[in-house]
Amino acid sequence: MKLYNSLTHTRDEFVTHEPGKVTMYTCGPTVYHFAHIGNLRSYIMEDVLEKYLSYAGYDVKRAMNITDVGHLSSDGDTGEDKMLKGAKREHKTVMEIAQYYTDAFFADCAKLNIKIPEIVVPATSYVDHFIEMVEKLIADGYAYEAGGNIYFDTSKLDEYYVFNKQNQEDLAVGVREGVEEDGNKRNKCDFVLWFTKSKFDDQELKWDSPWGVGYPGWHIECSAISLNTLGEYLDLHCGGIDNAFPHHTNEIAQSEAYLGHKWCSQWFHVLHLNTNDGKMSKSKGEFLTVSLLEEKGYDPLVYRFFCLQSHYRKSLVFSWEGLDNARVSYDKLIDRIASLVPGGEVNEAACEKQLKAFADAMDNDLNTAMAVTALYDVLKAKISDADKLWLFERFDSVLSVGLLDAAAKKREALAREKAEAEAAAAAERAEAMKDPFVAEIYAAIDERAAAKKAKNFARADEIRAELLAKGVTLIDTPQGTTYKIGE
Ligand code: AMP
Ligand code: ZN
Repeated sequence: MKLYNSLTHTRDEFVTHEPGKVTMYTCGPTVYHFAHIGNLRSYIMEDVLEKYLSYAGYDVKRAMNITDVGHLSSDGDTGEDKMLKGAKREHKTVMEIAQYYTDAFFADCAKLNIKIPEIVVPATSYVDHFIEMVEKLIADGYAYEAGGNIYFDTSKLDEYYVFNKQNQEDLAVGVREGVEEDGNKRNKCDFVLWFTKSKFDDQELKWDSPWGVGYPGWHIECSAISLNTLGEYLDLHCGGIDNAFPHHTNEIAQSEAYLGHKWCSQWFHVLHLNTNDGKMSKSKGEFLTVSLLEEKGYDPLVYRFFCLQSHYRKSLVFSWEGLDNARVSYDKLIDRIASLVPGGEVNEAACEKQLKAFADAMDNDLNTAMAVTALYDVLKAKISDADKLWLFERFDSVLSVGLLDAAAKKREALAREKAEAEAAAAAERAEAMKDPFVAEIYAAIDERAAAKKAKNFARADEIRAELLAKGVTLIDTPQGTTYKIGE
């Protein structure tokens, strides 16, 4: 499989430290508000990646943090404490806010068929590990204490800007922009590992540490959780593109300094979902959530389908019109799958071409748009309905847009409609049969159907002629025979 690697800026052949096994880490949500559908684009694409790796035969072990420590709203270690902001807004404690929005995140994931990683760690449950890591970084000369805080010393690294070597100056400006200069830092890119000098007197979450009561910097959690749950060699690290700098850059700095060797070989970044008026943001008042999609009558899986139609390395513009188009395509696809007849033997050998088309698409840097095209090609293929349904089941184990469930529901709805129509027709006939002339017509229709079944077409024609002589014209329809008075 070829996968774009943000470290090398090329589509690399996917390799793992241990053959057949993948360790995968995902930066989890900051739980001070609902996830917006932009955040969820990242989680959808990461979910597809995990599922495809399993589909391709890897044994995947995946971990994710939940950022419930009160981190600051800016990347540059400044701004407001996000959790505290949420708590104040909703008159709850910080831990109540964290629990509420963690549950809400999992509920959104369930609606979008996003599998929760097998290991999920709230940052607040891992503070001892963060302290242990910071202690070692100080002991090894990679961190220093200044003004009550512990900083990572980026000057001790051979290379700091691992993702964007060309634009070091731009990034350095980015770090400075809008950020109050922190006089404690020895180098402009140094970052905080542990705060004891809280900017907020009412900071709720604080822990005892060798450096005094305080709280961790926001990058240390992912390093410590990843190292402790997935080991010292990580195969794949995921997140939205905004995480590349400074968050992932700092994760790499502190993890490799701590380990004394290279840590994660492949970095998977999902580009942003934007609206026409710019970036989505949780900190801006109103924002797009899964609940809002549902309120407007959209199945959340239509949003997942919308995301799959684009490549994860292209930014995607969200519009209601775009979502409507995705819904039309999704509904058509489901209608066509619903028209396939379930049951019968599957001939896996006959499906080779379709399996290859799907794998080729996904092996091509997770080209989900091409994989969706492969679904339409299955419909057109000269294979049995059983084969087609088997393929849809396999592909949907990765794409997870509920193809078979939605098709089964559609089939049930059609069967229900048919049964209702037949019941209504039978009731109408029973009512009409109260008239002896109508009863005679229906008796003749039944006799004609029996004659046709017995291939006695001469008698069937005779019955039609006899009725016509009485002024009754028979009309044959796919649903059965009806009549009209007159010609
Ligand atoms: P947060 O809850 O802010 O920590 O973000 C959770 C995840 O969503 C991270 O991986 C972010 O990089 C990612 N993310 C944030 N904004 C967007 C966006 N507009 N589109 C896609 N992913 C995003
Ligand atoms: Zn992270």
